[in-house]
Amino acid sequence: MNKEEIIKKIKELKRRKGAVILVHNYQRGEVQDIADFIGDSLELSKIAQKMDCRIIVFCGVRFMAETAKILSPGKKVLLTRKEAGCPMADMITKDALKKLKEKYPGTKVVSYVNTNADVKAESDVCCTSANAVEVVRNMETEKIIFVPDRNLASYVAMSLPDKEIIPYNGYCYVHERISREDITKARKDHPDAKVIVHPECRAEVVQIADMVASTGGMVKFARESTSKEFIIGTEEGIIHRLRKENPEKKFYPISPLPVCRDMKLTTLEDVYTCLKEEKYEVEIEESIIESARKALEKMLQYTKS
Ligand code: SF4
Repeated sequence: MNKEEIIKKIKELKRRKGAVILVHNYQRGEVQDIADFIGDSLELSKIAQKMDCRIIVFCGVRFMAETAKILSPGKKVLLTRKEAGCPMADMITKDALKKLKEKYPGTKVVSYVNTNADVKAESDVCCTSANAVEVVRNMETEKIIFVPDRNLASYVAMSLPDKEIIPYNGYCYVHERISREDITKARKDHPDAKVIVHPECRAEVVQIADMVASTGGMVKFARESTSKEFIIGTEEGIIHRLRKENPEKKFYPISPLPVCRDMKLTTLEDVYTCLKEEKYEVEIEESIIESARKALEKMLQYTKS
């Protein structure tokens, strides 16, 4: 089948099966182009929760499809590639978190949404890169265990000097590789461009950027800014969306490196197979869904959006 035939088949199957296709900002351009919705993981899961659909097809990585299942337990949630995981999410296990809790008894745990379901279930509150600072600021307690991303933890600590943040030593290898030298070089090549980086980048990178934002924040800033050029310090997939939504503006990747292997696994053929064979279904124990949902709901209590 050629590309047009696959797209036609995907649309037919989607209609016939009552499915909705959710695509993360970091996916391949061809996959973004067949999305019903594009966004970050939580944004997409919240959309899926409200949709009247039988099947959710998640083009992303495992923890994202799990989050959709936690928020929509009655729907069939499919992950397009079985092996698509998040190396950072896999850096912390439920047992490692239990040990950390034992070391700091009574300390509240904030887990980044980039965690597996059983880790969320062991946490008090979840957060996203967009609301991490707001969540921690609004928590009644001063001392907080923050997992798994040490860079996001450091960004929160920098933003909230009155809080004591106990970080876990996880990181996203894609953002960790972005360096100060990359910013210096990109600025030299594009002197009029604004540099926007994701808070998963290292502190020394965050400190010299013009702006620090989640992917959703980048999309909003690019749309509303009067600037015409932007250097983007996150996984390169989002540049497809930014260019499509702002054809009169220019977007440059901060370096050739920011590519997430797992995010790039899903192809159009995978979306077709996923819908046709209704695989790979996400299944989570009821008790884990219950506890993880509480942590996600708690996050909503601490944020306005
Ligand atoms: S970009 Fe980083 S945080 Fe996102 S899925 Fe890939 S490894 Fe995980």
